[in-house]
Amino acid sequence: CGIVGVLGDHEAAPLIVDALKRLEYRGYDSAGIATLDGGRLDRRRAVGKLVNLSDLLVHEPLRGKAGIGHTRWATHGAPTVGNAHPHRSGRVAVVHNGIIENFRELREFLAGHGIHHETETDTETVALLTEHFLAQGLSPRDAAEQTIARLDGAYALCFLFEGEEDLLIAARKGPPLAIGHGDGEMYVGSDAIALANLTDRITYLDEGDRAVISRTSIEIRDANGRIANRPVKLIQLDS
Ligand code: GLU
Repeated sequence: CGIVGVLGDHEAAPLIVDALKRLEYRGYDSAGIATLDGGRLDRRRAVGKLVNLSDLLVHEPLRGKAGIGHTRWATHGAPTVGNAHPHRSGRVAVVHNGIIENFRELREFLAGHGIHHETETDTETVALLTEHFLAQGLSPRDAAEQTIARLDGAYALCFLFEGEEDLLIAARKGPPLAIGHGDGEMYVGSDAIALANLTDRITYLDEGDRAVISRTSIEIRDANGRIANRPVKLIQLDS
């Protein structure tokens, strides 16, 4: 339901929680965050209000300057900790808004490769498929690309990869997704309001766009794989 991504110069978890709070108006049943600490991927998830996640983070902090976060409105699978995002498989963590319509077919494809799901969610399928391609030797970027190419349905996605502290991959088809430009930092949000405390310079992804994001650069390609120049807009929001 709500997506946040941060490639920061500061601790990411508090920024992500704050940005997720700005998305509370959309409604949600659970929330979670994944970060890279020294390149190592770790995550915390909690059912219910964001305060449950922030309480958990007090006892079990997540360090690191790169991270993704999510508030979930369950469509497939009950609102449990195990079904909350980020979903993780091996080296990849992913947050997702929307519905992957063909996730049952993809589950069967993965089962044929001996890869089995632990949850009922359509989102876990995205994580498993990406890790499947990573295991075949594809780069994070190509693994995400191959995964996205196989998805039907509506999605805004943001990927974080173990060992890749300067990389987020974002994609949208259906739900909106915005990229925020900081000073040596870059952000992803399901809308500009999420990022209002971080930046007023926003690039909106167009339908079908995929973005490869580092702290200092964004490469956006359209649904046909062509480089796309999307404008940076100066937005005015009350923070
Ligand atoms: N379909 C996904 C799920 O049920 C994402 C729902 C959402 O947009 O929050 O986990």
